Amino acid sequence: MNPNKPHIVLLGAGYAGMMTTKKLLQKLSIQDADITLVNKHNYHYQTTWLHEVAAGTIDVNRSRIMISDVIDSHRVHIIQDTVTKIDKDNKRVELANGEIAYDYLVISLGFEKASFGIPGMEEHAYSIQDVNQSRLIRDHIEYQFAKYQNDVENRDPSMLTIIVGGAGFTGIEFCGELAERIPELCRKYDIPRNQVRIINVEGMDSVLPGFDPELANYAQQSLEARGIEFRLGTFIKEVKEGSIIIGEDEEIQAGTFVWTGGVQANHLVGEAGFELTKGKVNVDNTLRPAGYDEIFILGDCSWVLDNETGIPYPPTAQLAIQEAETCAHNIRTLIFGGTLKEFKYDNKGTVASLGGRDAMGTVFDGKKLYGIQAKVMKNVIDDRYLFLLGGPKLVLKKGKFRPF
Ligand code: FAD
Ligand code: NAD
Repeated sequence: MNPNKPHIVLLGAGYAGMMTTKKLLQKLSIQDADITLVNKHNYHYQTTWLHEVAAGTIDVNRSRIMISDVIDSHRVHIIQDTVTKIDKDNKRVELANGEIAYDYLVISLGFEKASFGIPGMEEHAYSIQDVNQSRLIRDHIEYQFAKYQNDVENRDPSMLTIIVGGAGFTGIEFCGELAERIPELCRKYDIPRNQVRIINVEGMDSVLPGFDPELANYAQQSLEARGIEFRLGTFIKEVKEGSIIIGEDEEIQAGTFVWTGGVQANHLVGEAGFELTKGKVNVDNTLRPAGYDEIFILGDCSWVLDNETGIPYPPTAQLAIQEAETCAHNIRTLIFGGTLKEFKYDNKGTVASLGGRDAMGTVFDGKKLYGIQAKVMKNVIDDRYLFLLGGPKLVLKKGKFRPF
């Protein structure tokens, strides 16, 4: 690194990290600053497609994009390594294989599974967290089918039971993909569909708690029509190997348990000693934590309030992408002077896929969309992100053009 230039270090190449890097490249020239992007893998992945990877309805590689295909590696030093510690008082970051110093730091390390202290959750639950864990879920489910088919003497029907814990957006979207994938697996392994159970267990009295009830109801009915069973108003209390305990100590045996019951910020931000709310770092509207003017915390790692309502913004890709512009502008301002920008979230709506050609959601002014119309909108949202990241070439390579 050139000691005469400020060094900007970005941790995590998810939505927030990738888009902030792109924006910094637009706002700064090679003479203005050195930029380093650190990520666990040499690829970026579409977190919003991981439920499809986990069910096996899209190939793993469809969700992965090589970082160097979309970020100019002549201008950004790309380090493939794992961050192990953020030493905010000495302006250093420890990696599994080294250490780096920074002048400006962007922390965009994303989310982890939140287990809420439920016994057995850490040890026995799968979760849709990254590419590798999602692929493991896909392979585990298929292995259960193969094993059931081969184990003629001691067939255990619970091998074909899949429990999804939580009916938030991740749980609902995953069930939608399973509704498409399971019939394919049944054909592949000559297993009648009625021998397979997919059960969604949700603690609250409805699916998608807090979301538009009409749309939530539509989602539930669509999934039930394709064989998903719901246990609503039922909390998961414990997870064991091969079973879960729900409600009033009822035990359900299952070959697969996938937890979609909630997410929390990457544990490294808590370990760094920042002030937290619900595990996320409190940041002001310039996206910085109090007392650390040179640090920006974005996406699922940060707790940022809407100034007008006092309500925190939800942890979504939409939010992470929008924060990038404010963050890059503010870093440029810190280097060259000017006025810092205040972040304001522009909620463009929420659309969730329900598998196949089905989807539902709200767009822009609260207009409700259902079925194929919503599915087309979902694909447009996904393709728009690909366009922002890698232009038309990336849309052509990875984009979703058909509504199924
Ligand atoms: P992430 O996208 O999680 O990226 C974090 C990056 O940091 C990753 O590349 C990771 O590899 C890297 N990293 C993590 N730890 C380390 C480490 N120690 N060292 C180095 N690198 C590390 N939101 C929407 O708006 N719309 C949707 O349709 C939608 N669908 C979703 C579907 C699913 C199945 C899931 C799970 C989430 C969905 N979300 C959706 C939420 C959205 O994906 C997250 O809010 C978003 O990914 C957060 O972006 P981020 O940049 O903060 O983190
Ligand atoms: P979530 O926190 O939104 O939902 C978790 C669900 O699990 C809740 O309904 C909760 O009541 C339930 N739950 C928690 N503990 C339970 C227990 N012990 N037993 C039974 N049920 C329990 O988490 P998520 O669905 O992973 O979503 C995380 C974030 O990602 C959210 O902000 C969401 O909006 C976003 N997301 C958006 C989309 C989309 O826009 N299409 C898709 C997926 C995720």
